[in-house]
Amino acid sequence: MATLFKKIIDKEIPASIVYEDDLCLAFRDINPQAPVHILVIPKITSIDKLSSAQPQHQSLLGHLLIKTQEIARAENLPDYRVVINNGEKAGQSVFHLHIHILGGRDFSWPPG
Ligand code: 5GP
Repeated sequence: MATLFKKIIDKEIPASIVYEDDLCLAFRDINPQAPVHILVIPKITSIDKLSSAQPQHQSLLGHLLIKTQEIARAENLPDYRVVINNGEKAGQSVFHLHIHILGGRDFSWPPG
């Protein structure tokens, strides 16, 4: 069954898309936790979470991070937080790999 994010990739569910290419899609989080909250996802559906990634995904994972910093720059974020929740106990709720870009406010450490 298609995950929510696959439906966003296929444009079956609307999203505020900020970037798209052959490999990835970036869109604004529906429940933002900061003034800027964007999700960057691969278009392939085979990586449900980071720990499922394989060596053959190395260039794709690099691509997602390069796009993450380009998107943050385009959003005029000098400082920002990048989060990947891996698994339910880490807060993952959608099982399609995604990178959170959070910015526009100060962040504390350690995270909750
Ligand atoms: P996770 O908790 O899995 O790390 O992050 C999933 C994120 O997806 C959450 O921040 C949640 O707000 C976001 N999200 C869930 N459903 C939708 C949706 O339908 N559209 C958008 N744009 N974001 C969503």
